[in-house]
Amino acid sequence: MALNVTQQRQLAGEQVRLLYERLWQPVVSSLLAACLLVAAMWPIVPQGYLLVWLLVLTAISGGRLALARYYHRQPEACRYRRRWLLRFAVGTALSGLVWGAAGVLMFVTEHFGQLAVLVVVLAGVSAGGVTTLSAIGWMAPLFVVPILSPLLILLLLQGSGLMLLLAALVALFLGLVMVSGRRLNQFVHDNISLRLVVSSSESQLRISEARYRAIFRHTPLGVLHFDCGGRVVDCNAVGLSILGLRKQQLLGMDLFNELNDPRVIEAIHNALKSGTGYFEGTYRSVKSGKRTPLRAFFSALHNESGERDGGVVVLEDFTERKRAEETIHRQAYFDSLTELPNRRMLIEALASTIRDRRDDGCLGLVMFLDLDRFKIINDTLGHSVGDELLRQVSKRLLASIDDQGMAARLSGDEFVILRPVLSDNLEVGAQRAERRAELLLDSLRQTYDLGGQHLSVTPSIGYTLFPLADEDVGDVLRHADTAMYQAKLRGRAQVCGYEPAMQAQLNRRLETEQALRRALTEGQMSIDFQPQYDARNNLVGAEALMRWQHPQHGWISPEVFIPIAEESDLIVELETWLLEYCCAMLARVPTATLPRLSINISVRHFAQPGFVEAVTWAVGSHGVDPSRLVVELTESVMIAGLEEASERMEALKRIGVRFALDDFGTGFSSLAYLKSLPLDELKIDRSFVKHIDTEGSDAAIVETILAMARHLGIAVVAEGVENEAQQAYLLARDCQVFQGFYYSRPMPAEAFESLLSKSDQPTAEP
Ligand code: C2E
Ligand code: CA
Ligand code: CA
Repeated sequence: MALNVTQQRQLAGEQVRLLYERLWQPVVSSLLAACLLVAAMWPIVPQGYLLVWLLVLTAISGGRLALARYYHRQPEACRYRRRWLLRFAVGTALSGLVWGAAGVLMFVTEHFGQLAVLVVVLAGVSAGGVTTLSAIGWMAPLFVVPILSPLLILLLLQGSGLMLLLAALVALFLGLVMVSGRRLNQFVHDNISLRLVVSSSESQLRISEARYRAIFRHTPLGVLHFDCGGRVVDCNAVGLSILGLRKQQLLGMDLFNELNDPRVIEAIHNALKSGTGYFEGTYRSVKSGKRTPLRAFFSALHNESGERDGGVVVLEDFTERKRAEETIHRQAYFDSLTELPNRRMLIEALASTIRDRRDDGCLGLVMFLDLDRFKIINDTLGHSVGDELLRQVSKRLLASIDDQGMAARLSGDEFVILRPVLSDNLEVGAQRAERRAELLLDSLRQTYDLGGQHLSVTPSIGYTLFPLADEDVGDVLRHADTAMYQAKLRGRAQVCGYEPAMQAQLNRRLETEQALRRALTEGQMSIDFQPQYDARNNLVGAEALMRWQHPQHGWISPEVFIPIAEESDLIVELETWLLEYCCAMLARVPTATLPRLSINISVRHFAQPGFVEAVTWAVGSHGVDPSRLVVELTESVMIAGLEEASERMEALKRIGVRFALDDFGTGFSSLAYLKSLPLDELKIDRSFVKHIDTEGSDAAIVETILAMARHLGIAVVAEGVENEAQQAYLLARDCQVFQGFYYSRPMPAEAFESLLSKSDQPTAEP
């Protein structure tokens, strides 16, 4: 039996242990035998010898017992040492020698009976020694040879026939004892080796069993074992939790007959037939009803002789993964703020809808909408209010569509509504589209309640039917966008259907914007000044008006380029430049010559964070008296909230800047808010002045405005006074300041300054 090094060490240790184990039994028996021998010899051998012999044997036996006791107290690890074997051997040899000495000391040929006792006792002790010492092969001879050899020699020396016969018997016995000792030793050796081998393979088996148990128990996957008949044999805890079952419910379950999912049953069949099976999908547990998205790998198991012995299935729970996939999908296809589909999803849906409509010949509708002046709301009321507004708009959009339609958020305040099927007739389709767009406009323009703040916001809506020719997704969206743009140009809060001519118009507009961006740096911008006069024709101020001379197209009206600049932050740049220019002029020209200068400020610029600081800095850096600066705002400043607007105005008023309300009468035409705004001046729009002497209604409006302004203590400037009649009418109604072609057309800066320098108080000469 081949043992490894450790086992050999264990074998050696075990052999030593056997020697020491129950040592007291042979030792005590040998002492008893010694006592009997002494008793038998007492009458014939000198008693002193006998006592000394017995004493020596007792002492050695005591020593051996003490050694055994000491050995047993040793920790396991120390017992294997060689020195324990040597100590034992010394004790054994000594006691063998003492017994051998008995053979010499008590050899009495004349008393045959006693001699027989001696021979029998020595033989018995030897035989006993062989049985107890055979754990180590050489230990028995070490004991037996010293015992029997002196006796054997003495018997041979006697030479008589009987003695020789006895010697032969003793020799035979010695040989026999040695041989059986060897056999016994071999037996013990084999026995221990076998035990060691068995216990080592058992412990290996235990370790591997424990390891597989641990894997079975702790694997993050579910593992289920079934037999050839499809009955569940075992299942780990993960498997139970995936299936939503308790162990008692599952063990013994007949998978073939109790499962109701044919896909799973097929996978088990495959595993048992061909070795593997696979299932992926949402599994509904028959007992618990729990639905779990999972993946299952089935494989057959084989026993040692290679026969199929059931199978095992590894279950992977897909719930987390599915959830993660859903999250990824949501992030990829939905807008996180409004939870509406995003651009990507819209594009995919629109692309497939366009294909479907091409196939069935019907028409679909895309509406593109953008909230008017959303940026101002966002900038002035804060992003959380802006976000809330977008969410509420989204809700209204969702309410406006059926389950076929889609409302998507493209970016910022741009939304798209897709109606896959509108009509199969172009004319009917166009009517329905307009109707739908108008309904949507009505729904979206209702007041929004944003945490207590009530806000009116309008959208501009552009729409287009598709497919009209061979447009793709990009074309359809662009058409709707162009139409929306057109709706904005037509004064916002409008709906507008796409017409092919719009695209060219839009392109021109884009070109203009590009050109305008370069205009300031390329010196194409200039400022005209239009003087304002009082009732006695004294120049009391002027309005700065921006001019653009395009290198190819010549003078472009501010009515054209200002709205374009307002679409982007370009307006901020342009007006900042104008403000700077005007402050420099005010610093140059004495107050007496030019008491005040008015500048037009767009709402977009006014709502810009830092506007108040920029104006403060501009007047401060030129050392200009801020009260000489009049900021003209239109009624649209209130769009973002009356409070916000008046706060900003108040901030500038504190340093002295004055405010005028431009184009009064054309916007909200509500007089109520006039009281709330810190205004110094009202500018009656020139459209009212124009027909003042012919149209009764306009005259009435002007009269009302003048009376009310007087009542509120606000000065009035009449714009667009073109003739004497108008002037006379206004003068008669106590208007204080006049501006118009009748007095002076807007003039370039040099002309204006030279006009100022001609006289300290230039008087108009109409
Ligand atoms: P507005 O603020 O109402 O400016 C007065 C406009 O009336 C000027 O037109 C002026 O030339 C014109 N006007 C003056 N007197 C008469 C008259 O007797 N009859 C007629 N028919 N028109 C008269 P303009 O210079 O073409 O400016 C048009 C508009 O462009 C301005 O209207 C203003 O809204 C805007 N604008 C001009 N410069 C700026 C600017 O720097 N910022 C902003 N936001 N808007 C500006
Ligand atoms: Ca103005
Ligand atoms: Ca005006």
